[in-house]
Amino acid sequence: MRPYTTKGAYFLLLLSIPFLSSWGFFAHKRINYQAVFSLPPEMLRFYKGSSLFLTEHAVDPDKRRYIVIEEAARHYIDLDHYPEIKARQSVFSYYEATALYSEDSLKKHGTVPWTILLNMKKLEQAFKEQNTERILKYSADLGHYIGDAHVPLHTTSNYNGQLTNQQGIHGLWESRLPELFYDHYPLWVGCANYLASPADSVWKCIFESHALVEKVLEEERLVSLQLTERKKYTIEHRNGMPVKTYSTLFCKRYNERMDHMVEERLQKAIKFTADCWYTCWVNAGRPELLLEKIEKEKDEAGSADENCIH
Ligand SMILES: [Zn+2]
Repeated sequence: MRPYTTKGAYFLLLLSIPFLSSWGFFAHKRINYQAVFSLPPEMLRFYKGSSLFLTEHAVDPDKRRYIVIEEAARHYIDLDHYPEIKARQSVFSYYEATALYSEDSLKKHGTVPWTILLNMKKLEQAFKEQNTERILKYSADLGHYIGDAHVPLHTTSNYNGQLTNQQGIHGLWESRLPELFYDHYPLWVGCANYLASPADSVWKCIFESHALVEKVLEEERLVSLQLTERKKYTIEHRNGMPVKTYSTLFCKRYNERMDHMVEERLQKAIKFTADCWYTCWVNAGRPELLLEKIEKEKDEAGSADENCIH
């Protein structure tokens, strides 16, 4: 989330109220929860026993934005403000970025790829120290930042359509559609894979997300042309408050035109989260994970065909 423009404040307030998070709290929680099932047996018991924590803390990075100023930039990267990075279409180190762009510029236009890589280092170290608290904290944070990196609108300065008169599209894409259609998403994404080059994988994800920005915006424009203002929006009550939001009819049409994009980005975020957790654990020397320190959840591990053996 970034502060929305004040232009047309009343309209925006209504559209932004339910969407105070990247991917929406709902989807972030599902990403962390679902990623657990892609882990190998040596990790599965520990992560399954911690799935409540990983789910509940999937949105901590968004909450931190209200108390830590530096936190905001960790959730996105405005590639349109980094022409050299955009032109390269491959790994761009933080060292190279700081040589080209000022610290202020990086804080303003985002650092999510480097944040993911930094959190991987922290998670690997936590595994080496067998520090349960830190393993869980960095696992939960990592899932969040990876989720953000898979959202196309997190890779552009036009993050809420505010530059193209499409205010509210951020929440439409990453909150409204998953909330409406999540039950139809197949979310078993296969077993976690080891990432030989996390930097390559992270930057590939960023450029994939950015390549989808134009379609995300263009399809909203086209569906908007089909519907009157009255049919485009509806009023819903959330927490006892009337909230103006995109109508179900609009969402259905937009979702069709997205052609599974939202569920595919969600699936890739789940898979990539599991891949990163697994890679950090392997790089730390495959330490034994001690479930005893964690309060067990009542439900046991998933079905046998969902267990991953590496
Ligand atoms: Zn975020």
